[in-house]
Amino acid sequence: MQQDADVIVVGAGFAGMYMLHRARQLGFRAVVIETGSEVGGTWYWNRYPGARCDVQSMSYSYSFSDDLQQEWVWPDRYATQPDILRYAKHVADRFDLRRDIRFNTRVTAARFDQAQNVWQIETDAGGLFVAPFLIMATGCLSVPKVPDVPGIKNFRGRVLHTANWPQEGVDFSGQGVGILGTGSSGIQAIPHIAQQARHLTVFQRTPNFSIPAWNGPISPQTQADLKGRYSELRYKSRNSYAGDYADEYVVSILDLSPQEREVQFEKRWQEGGFNYQYAFADVMENAQANELAAEFVRNKIRGIVRDSKTAEMLCPKGHPFGAKRLCVDTGYYETYNRPNVALVDIRADPIQDMTAGGLRTATSTYSFDTLVLATGFDAMTGALTRIDIRGRDGVLLRDRWQDGAKAYLGLAVAGFPNMFTINGPGSPSVLANMVLACEQHVEWIAALLAHSRENGIAVIEADSVAQEDWAREVTESADRTLYTRAASWYLGANVPGKPRVFMPYVEGFCVYSRTCDAVAASGYSGFHLASGG
Ligand SMILES: Cc1cc2nc3c(=O)[nH]c(=O)nc-3n(C[C@H](O)[C@H](O)[C@H](O)COP(=O)(O)OP(=O)(O)OC[C@H]3O[C@@H](n4cnc5c(N)ncnc54)[C@H](O)[C@@H]3O)c2cc1C
Repeated sequence: MQQDADVIVVGAGFAGMYMLHRARQLGFRAVVIETGSEVGGTWYWNRYPGARCDVQSMSYSYSFSDDLQQEWVWPDRYATQPDILRYAKHVADRFDLRRDIRFNTRVTAARFDQAQNVWQIETDAGGLFVAPFLIMATGCLSVPKVPDVPGIKNFRGRVLHTANWPQEGVDFSGQGVGILGTGSSGIQAIPHIAQQARHLTVFQRTPNFSIPAWNGPISPQTQADLKGRYSELRYKSRNSYAGDYADEYVVSILDLSPQEREVQFEKRWQEGGFNYQYAFADVMENAQANELAAEFVRNKIRGIVRDSKTAEMLCPKGHPFGAKRLCVDTGYYETYNRPNVALVDIRADPIQDMTAGGLRTATSTYSFDTLVLATGFDAMTGALTRIDIRGRDGVLLRDRWQDGAKAYLGLAVAGFPNMFTINGPGSPSVLANMVLACEQHVEWIAALLAHSRENGIAVIEADSVAQEDWAREVTESADRTLYTRAASWYLGANVPGKPRVFMPYVEGFCVYSRTCDAVAASGYSGFHLASGG
């Protein structure tokens, strides 16, 4: 029968690109199918002004090739979207990846053929791909969430989504702009749009905690120093909670005197970024410690934003610090001191409907030429449930997950043999440095494929009991933290009708990867491995 490859990979972001390279290294024939016209995934789609990574670039980059990490020069501590996309293209060229990537092609359906032990994969280009193994590198944050704003069809201006930004860019000069959403993308875009637009109105439902990036160029000396220590730093990252080499859990807030606390909070604030969350051992475990860390940030906001009413509106109060994804910004709070920026609290004064020239809340009307939606994603499962994936006996993955997504180790789903998910629900995914998380999954899956070939195994399937046990571990460990005390996208709370199940694994990247290694060392406990006969 037709067989196009040993492995079909869906998605050409950091996960899919490395999966292709690793599969080839092991002698497998792999083909990648990608909706976009280029590699890069997240960094291909999210071209909004101000888009950049918030894990430092020397860490948020591939470690699998020492030549690559030594030769590449990151201009800034936190690289811009164009620089990260340039890097992804360089990787594609350097490892000759494009010849096995089918661009501009969306996978619409995949069906496991039990008689032949192969996946049949359909695309919107009309083709059918057949392969024994299917690897979903479809991304955790790759399906934009478009809110249901009443009357949006009435609006005569332009509507843009940060995650599907026009390739040619947007010039806001002289325009009135409205923006909906103050999560990571909104917080990055707002200072840039404010500098260009005539006027910017920020419609805020939930304020989020944001820590300054203190971004800037990486000096040649710092770059050389870090490169000289790369193997040590990568080792440290692989053995860390967040997959990064910053020092973690060095301080317990409640063990410190009030004066010492202020010193430590100020130190982490000045270091910037996620260090403010990951330096403190008890911040996500203890509500009192969390509130102290939160109040320090609120006081910073009150110190930066001159108008006290606006400052108070920007202070998050309804959820624990860090329970919604922490934001990292450049000049976000300062932007509200500009005369051309206004903040509207749409929780207090909800949007009624959109008009031809803007929108109406219960008490006011607002005019603008362009509406920017910075409203996030159907996270972690959205890209998978949009595809018609049918496993054993024609069971649909979407149906299987209707009460909440479960995947053994976040890697494989019972009833869906020979299919693997990279950064799937139940893996650390969005709580870790995701380039490293991609590498760890790719390497683990590749080793299992090699093991199967060596041992004549044709069918690999997660055991349903092992999957249930893992799902319970994921839920219970999240319940022991403060993560579940916010209506976050980690829980699916931003998508109406989505089951509220905490999806990422909170025990840390290092604990998780050791668990995966132990599963492999035990001969893949929790998986059924069967020969084809
Ligand atoms: C604005 C933004 C900033 C971020 N910053 C950071 C950061 O600083 N640090 C961090 O760790 N993480 C960050 N992330 C998370 C980021 O998604 C990951 O770091 C990483 O890029 C994920 O790579 P991936 O290959 O798994 O998925 P993606 O990069 O999302 O790639 C998935 C690809 O699959 C394709 N695809 C999906 N469905 C189909 C289909 N049916 N058919 C064909 N192709 C399909 C998509 O088009 C996409 O190209 C950020 C995310 C966003 C949106």
